Amino acid sequence: MTETATLSIDFAGQDHVVPFTVSPLDVRGRAVQLGPMLDTILDRHDYPEPVSRLVAEAVTLTVLLGTALKFEGKFILQTQTDGPVSMIVTDFRTPGSVRAYARFDADAVAASASDAASLLGNGILAMTIDQGEYTQRYQGIVQLDGISVEEVARRYFLQSEQIPTEVRLGVGEVLTRREGESPRHSWTAGGVLLQFLPDSEDRIRIMDLPGGDGLDDDGFNQDDAWTEARALMGTINDVELTDSTVEPERLLYRLFHEHGVHVFDGTKVADDCACSEMKVRNVLEAMSSEERAESVEDGKIRVTCEFCSTSYDFDPSALEIVH
Ligand SMILES: [Zn+2]
Repeated sequence: MTETATLSIDFAGQDHVVPFTVSPLDVRGRAVQLGPMLDTILDRHDYPEPVSRLVAEAVTLTVLLGTALKFEGKFILQTQTDGPVSMIVTDFRTPGSVRAYARFDADAVAASASDAASLLGNGILAMTIDQGEYTQRYQGIVQLDGISVEEVARRYFLQSEQIPTEVRLGVGEVLTRREGESPRHSWTAGGVLLQFLPDSEDRIRIMDLPGGDGLDDDGFNQDDAWTEARALMGTINDVELTDSTVEPERLLYRLFHEHGVHVFDGTKVADDCACSEMKVRNVLEAMSSEERAESVEDGKIRVTCEFCSTSYDFDPSALEIVH
């Protein structure tokens, strides 16, 4: 295999989402490997390991979906469930800002099996696209009932948009050693999102019909391309998604070079919370006086951002009261 010798594409590097198309298979998608950006978020939160893994999957899915936004805006993924991890929120702001947090019961997490279905339990996952005041806020909901985060994406696209979609996500930990420091674990994650978007929608519709003949005008089985693409996605292993020596471009080449894969420039994603003293102040000033009074402790109001753990202190008497 002379893959390396014949591979003459540029690597965007970790924390870059790269779009790609495989025209002969009528598929397109995005791939990413997250490194320092993800590690910074998870290191700051210091969640139990199974929670970190789940948040890592949610962040990876969020950047794969969020970077599809064509206009300025926000993509928010949020779970609300009855399991040990009751809520995960990850949001993406164009062009590439990401933040995430989870709420969980530490004892219940410790007692739970560590797979996503056990940690989340039953409930819903909402994906919201918000592109500002002049556009309609869009929200799609998927029932969570013991399915993986990968399955969530498949279900969402089939239900909400009738687009056949495959997603692979992987999370890994690497041991890094810096001189003079004790070794530490850092987080990596990777993902590939693949969608079947043929020119003719008929090819998608036929696939949904049980017992349909699945033949196009030329007599070919119409979902052959999608079947092939899905089979190739099935050959991805977790190490390929998370190992820094297997760049997303290299993985895409391995999967699709026989069909002709075209990889586009990547979008950088970064750990970047949107909170600010002014935004928190605006929220406090819009509260009722009772709500505000309940927030006062030791003569001040301290608000800690759940996403980035930054604390903001306010003197209640210095707030401009709206109500
Ligand atoms: Zn923040």
